Amino acid sequence: MNYNVDENGYYGPFGGAFIPDELKENIDQLTERYVEILESPKFKTEFAALLKDYAGRPSPLYFAPRLSAKYGTRIYLKREELNHTGSHKINNAIGQILLAREMGCTHIIAETGAGQHGVATATVCAKLGLRCTVYMGAVDVERQALNVARMKMLGATVEPVTSGGGTLKDAVDLAFAYWVAHPEAYYLLGSAVGPHPFPDIVARLQSVISAEIRAQLLEQEGRELPDYVIACIGGGSNAAGAFYHFLDEEAVRLVQVEAGGHGTQGDEHAASLTCGTEGILHGSRSMILFDQDGEVREPYSISAGLDYPGIGPLHAYLAHTGRSTVLVATDRQALEAARELSQLEGIIPAIESAHALAALPQMKFRPEDVVVVNVSGRGDKDMPTYLREFGL
Ligand SMILES: *Cc1c(COP(=O)(O)O)cnc(C)c1O
Repeated sequence: MNYNVDENGYYGPFGGAFIPDELKENIDQLTERYVEILESPKFKTEFAALLKDYAGRPSPLYFAPRLSAKYGTRIYLKREELNHTGSHKINNAIGQILLAREMGCTHIIAETGAGQHGVATATVCAKLGLRCTVYMGAVDVERQALNVARMKMLGATVEPVTSGGGTLKDAVDLAFAYWVAHPEAYYLLGSAVGPHPFPDIVARLQSVISAEIRAQLLEQEGRELPDYVIACIGGGSNAAGAFYHFLDEEAVRLVQVEAGGHGTQGDEHAASLTCGTEGILHGSRSMILFDQDGEVREPYSISAGLDYPGIGPLHAYLAHTGRSTVLVATDRQALEAARELSQLEGIIPAIESAHALAALPQMKFRPEDVVVVNVSGRGDKDMPTYLREFGL
C-alpha cells in the first residue's frame, strides 16, 4: 500500500483540488514548486533552525509513569504542548510562511478554530514582518478569548465571521472567499485539509513530530517503532505529523480519535469518519457530515479545534483502507481525560488533545506495549471551559 499523495493529488479516492478558476493559477504554481522548495537545502536549513531555536524543538517524548500504571502498559506523551505558542500549529506556520516568502507573497491570510493556528500564524508573521489577517468564527472568538487577545497583541487583524454557525467551517469559507478576491495573498491553511497540495504540505511540515518520536523511542526504548500512535483529529494535522513516518510500518497501529460531542447517536458531534459520507468540502473530496438535504451539517464539539464537518483526505484514506483505527470521544470523556492527565501527570492538556487521551480507557493494551499519545496542545486557552465544567 502507498499512503502518500499521488501525482494527481489523491489518496485513493480522496483529495484532489476542486477550486474556482480564480485560484487555479495560484494553486498550479504552488503544486509545481512546493516539493522543490520544501526539499531545498536553503529551506531545510532555515526551517530546522527556526524549529529548534524559535519553536523550542525537539519536543520531549515523556514516559508517563502514573498514566502507564493506570492503563497497565507503557505510555509516552509527545509533548507538542511545550512548543512556542502552545501547540503543534507552530511547525506548520513556520514552514508555510517560509514557503510563502519563497513564492514572493507578503500578505498572509489564515482561518482559525481554537485560535491556536491564528496565534501561530500571527506569531511567525510578526517575527518575519509580514501582514497577517485571521478569519475566526464569532462563536469561537467568544469561547477562545485569550487567543483572540494574543493575535491582536501580535499585530494581526482578526476578522470575526458571523455567517453559518460562526465556527471553523465558516471561517474557512470566508478565508477562501477573500483569497479568491485577492489571489496575491498566501492562504496559510492550518490543517491537513483543503485542495491539493495543502494536505501534503501540512503533513510534510508536521512530520517532524514522528521523525522525532522515532529517534526518541530508539534512545529511550531501544526500538524506533511504537505499538500504537494515538492522536485527535480535527482536520488532521497533528495526527498526520504523528503518523507520517509510521505510515508504511504496518506493525504500528495508528489511532484517530474524533470529537463525539454529545454522542454519535444524535446530530451533535464532529465525527466525520464515523458518521460522514463521501463528498467535497473546501476543495477536496473526503468524508463530510451532510444533513438530509445534502447540505454540509453544522458540527458540534466542546473543542473549537475539532469542531469541523470534514477531515483531511489522508485520514479518510487511512480509515477507508483499514490502516487506521477510528475511535470517538465525547465531550464528557474528553473532559474526564483532561482531568486525569492533569492530576496523574501534572500536565493540563488542550481540550482537543484530551480527546486523544480519552482513547486510553477504550482500548486494551498488553503490559509490554509502547503507546505514544500526541499531546497536541496545552490547556491554558481552555481553562474557562474546565472551570465551568468542573465547577472549580
Ligand atoms: C488545531 C488543533 C487541533 C486540531 O487540528 P488538527 O489539524 O486535527 O491537528 C488539535 N489540537 C490542538 C491543540 C489544536 O490547536
